[in-house]
Parts: sequence; C-alpha cells; structure tokens
Amino acid sequence: MSAYLDKLFSLHGKVAIVTGASRGIGAFLVHALTEAGAYTVGIGRSSASENPFFEGSEYCQCDILDHANFAAICGSVFAAKGRVDILVNAAGITLPASEGIDALKMFENTISTNLLAVNSTCQSAVNFMKKIGGGSIINVTSIASVMGFPGNPAYVASKGGVRMLTKALALDLAEHNIRVNNLVPGYIRTDMTEASFQDPIRYDERLQHMMIKRWGVTEDLAGAAIYLASNASNYVTGSDLLVDGGWTAKGM
Ligand code: NAP
Repeated sequence: MSAYLDKLFSLHGKVAIVTGASRGIGAFLVHALTEAGAYTVGIGRSSASENPFFEGSEYCQCDILDHANFAAICGSVFAAKGRVDILVNAAGITLPASEGIDALKMFENTISTNLLAVNSTCQSAVNFMKKIGGGSIINVTSIASVMGFPGNPAYVASKGGVRMLTKALALDLAEHNIRVNNLVPGYIRTDMTEASFQDPIRYDERLQHMMIKRWGVTEDLAGAAIYLASNASNYVTGSDLLVDGGWTAKGM
C-alpha cells in the first residue's frame, strides 16, 4: 500500500470492538478490520465464533443485553490495549411474526436487542473513546431503516430507530471527536437471510429490487466498514452509507 493510502485507510494502532461477531456480517467485519491493521475484539452470545480468530483479534462471549458485562469488556480491552477507537454494532435479530407467538413480546425483544442494546454499547464504548480523544462508531442498520418492509414491523422500527440514534449521537459526540455513522446493507447472504435465499420465489423477488444483479455477500461490506473506521472518513459523521446493490435508489 502506498504511504498515502496507508495514511487514509490503515487501522494500525487502533483497537476495535465488533458485536455480532460469532457469524455473518460481524464475523466478517472482525476479519476485515484486523486485516486493515486494527486489534479487534469480536463479541457474540455463542461460546465460539465461525471465524478462525487469528493474531490481532480475539473473541469474547457476551450477550449485549447484559449491559454491565459489555461495559466490563470495554473496560478490560481498554486496560489491556490502552484504547478503544472503533465500535461496530453488528449484533441484531429478526423475529418475523408467526402464529402462536406473542407479537408484543417479539416486538419488545427486537427493540431491546436491535435498538436499546445498541444505545447502551455506544454509551459504554464512548466512555473510553473520550479518554483517548476520539473514535468511530459504525451502526449496522438495514435498508429497512429507510423503507417499509412487510411482516416484521419491530425490525423496521428498530433499524429506523438506530438510524436516527446515530444522527443524534453524531451531533452530541462531535465535540469529543467521536464520529457515528450507519452502515446500511441490502440483502446479504447470512444465516439471517438463508431461508429467503434458498426459497426460489423469495430469492427472485428480492433480486428484482437490486440494480447489481446478485445478492450481497459479507465481503461486500468490508470496504465501507474500513472507510468509516479509518481516517479516510474523518469529515463524515451522522451519515448513512448504503451498500445495497442499488436497492433503495431503484425506481423500476
Ligand atoms: P446473523 O448471521 O443472524 O448474525 C447475527 C449476529 O448477532 C450473531 O453473531 C449473533 O450472535 C449476534 N447477536 C444477536 N443477538 C445478540 C445478543 N443479544 N448479544 C450478542 N450478540 C448477539 O445476522 P447477519 O446477517 O450477520 O446480521 C448482522 C447485522 O446486520 C444485524 O444487525 C442485521 O440486522 C443487519 N443486517 C443484515 C442484513 C442481511 O441481509 N444479512 C441486511 C441488513 C442488515 P450469536 O449467534 O452468538 O447469538
């Protein structure tokens, strides 16, 4: 990499925490940030991650609904590494409505994980970012944060909530040199979307919305995440970076 590109995009010397790192998008972003030079700590509920966590990264088991435990992990990372520069909130759930299941309970669970816990992980990480004079928070939302989607109002509401949480935090935290941005995926093949990926009708329905005629893969989000985490985006905050194959810009 040229010195110029290195100055813009390298994450050497930075420490990142990524939630939702046991699989899917979060697991891949641990890999991407580590490859870009960051020391990266992945967080997930599962005891282990699908990632072969290699030199420069580690995995901690933590439910982000356990706010005290997540705050303690941030504290240990800061104690061990002397800094927390980057937080990626990739943990998320989707609980589509189904018969026999308490819809209100599912709504609450979705909001708790996808919105309330994101606010709480941001607050925990911010305490340590302030100590080093800055940081970058990347909230993984969804095209459901900017458009209505059927059958799962809780997910849409939670992601719409995070979208605006990001903008509010960006304003409040700018004076501390902490940037907060949304990374907005379209349809990415992971466990979360595997059922619709495997169903030919739902697969095609979704494909029709994409300008780039393929479903996304986790790797498609790497460049955007590195950009938002790095000095290259030093003047970018409160923004939505769409990585959706053109879904939200497509008319017909
Ligand atoms: P996924 O494969 O289902 O992975 C979800 C991850 O979140 C897992 O690592 C899971 O950990 C973790 N998680 C869930 N609840 C948690 C909790 N309470 N505490 C800690 N970790 C928790 O989903 P994905 O597709 O990678 O999605 C990642 C993010 O991208 C989500 O926020 C999702 O809404 C968003 N997104 C995905 C797509 C897509 O097309 N895939 C599109 C737009 C947005 P455990 O398995 O260990 O519990």
